[in-house]
Amino acid sequence: MRRGHRDIYKQFKVIFEGEGLDRIEERLAILEAFLRTEDHVSAAELCRVLKERGKIFPEEFIVENLKLFAHYGFAREKQFTDQLPRYEHHHLDSHHDHLICVRCGAILEFYNPKIEALQAETARSMEFHDLQHRMDIYGLCSNCLRARKNIIPLVMASPGERVRIVGFRGGKGMERRLTSMGLNRDAEVEVIKSSGPGPLIVASRETRIALGFGMAKKILVTTIIDTHGT
Ligand SMILES: [Zn+2]
Ligand SMILES: [Zn+2]
Ligand SMILES: [Zn+2]
Repeated sequence: MRRGHRDIYKQFKVIFEGEGLDRIEERLAILEAFLRTEDHVSAAELCRVLKERGKIFPEEFIVENLKLFAHYGFAREKQFTDQLPRYEHHHLDSHHDHLICVRCGAILEFYNPKIEALQAETARSMEFHDLQHRMDIYGLCSNCLRARKNIIPLVMASPGERVRIVGFRGGKGMERRLTSMGLNRDAEVEVIKSSGPGPLIVASRETRIALGFGMAKKILVTTIIDTHGT
């Protein structure tokens, strides 16, 4: 166990006992497993990890303990794309922000002192006393970007993605019809909604356009990679 983690373990043992909680050994086993993860784990995932080591607990008991760890400042609870509460270690005096892939759910951590300083400066300039913040950037990770083909049907693009129309399936008639809606070759559109019931919604300049699924399958696009500042 890392030195910092050994301290946490000891601190928690004292708190558990002080609070008069039962099943202390079991709670400490969950804490130990949690401290061994270096990820953003959900209760179900931690349940699986413990099971692999022959320790079987009901998921509700794990949820209860993760909430307890968060309550005493040993863990932080966060929600990302899947809305599942996830927990990570809460190391005092350390802070990081997140990049979250909307495709595979990967969560990357980063710390950029320039961004931190700018945020503090922004708050100060508005006479705002900042206590805490979180910054989550949603997008596509490098693996997911590499894994997908350069040209995809519009239906495969993710919400928030900016794409350029490179071609059409379905002949001249289809192309004319889409062009009359403002969806011509080389047009840049932003995907507003690409899944769930109802039509697909894209924005072309200031206009929002609703497209049936069948039509959106016939539009071929390529992702516009933002290269500002590079
Ligand atoms: Zn930050
Ligand atoms: Zn990904
Ligand atoms: Zn994190």
